[in-house]
Amino acid sequence: MHRFYLTGEHGLGAEVRFNPAQVRQITRVLRMRVGSRVLTFNGSGQEWEVEIVATSPQEVVGRIVEECEALRESPLRVVLVQGLLKGAKMDYLIQKATEMGVAEVILLSTRRTVAEGLGKVARWDRIAIEAAEQSGRLVVPKLSGPYPLEGYVVGQSPGASLLLWERERVGTLAALLDRMPPPDEVKILVGPEGGLEMDEVALLRRAGFVPVSLGPRTLRAETAALAALAILQHYWGDLR
Ligand code: SAH
Repeated sequence: MHRFYLTGEHGLGAEVRFNPAQVRQITRVLRMRVGSRVLTFNGSGQEWEVEIVATSPQEVVGRIVEECEALRESPLRVVLVQGLLKGAKMDYLIQKATEMGVAEVILLSTRRTVAEGLGKVARWDRIAIEAAEQSGRLVVPKLSGPYPLEGYVVGQSPGASLLLWERERVGTLAALLDRMPPPDEVKILVGPEGGLEMDEVALLRRAGFVPVSLGPRTLRAETAALAALAILQHYWGDLR
């Protein structure tokens, strides 16, 4: 069944109204009629079955006919702190990280950031919503930034904070996960295409980030982020 993210209050019997992009999708692309059913979610962790009760080219109204039990959110809250990537790579990573169940993405600009990411957050939000709709997520990951790295580290509570660093020679991510009790939340920081400068790594260490390696090969930033998300969700989350 097609799924739509709709903000606002949901409850059995309530009427819901779809936004203009969804109206277009429902009437023109899917050509749904009165009586068709779709699923909606509003980020609260629940899902509803909705029957379309009125359609016009401008408006689609639905009525919530069923509350569905759904457990598709990971017990592990993963926050991906990602150095901005260029155009299509950033889009790709937002989509895939959403599928991998990430709770939040915080974007950073660093010394070697080449992309200009201002003004694109609305576009990445749309990508995250679409990926959440498609993958059965019940919440849409929260996106924020880009923040300068130096500003971001101020006031960070260390918690479980990992820094993916290709020059770390001792600690691997898997070895760390083997000996750590599972936390509720883990932050994972990945550099941009050009990596991080030594003094940025030093700053992050001082802020409590633990450098870990993903093995002997240098991965592209988006590969590193997705590999780390897979490993974290496998060890501590729900990717099994
Ligand atoms: N500085 C390098 C490569 C940067 S790779 C260069 O240009 O030669 C981009 C990011 O991916 C890095 O900042 C790091 O966060 C992550 N990364 C890539 N390979 C990794 C590995 N083997 N272990 C841990 N992190 C890795």
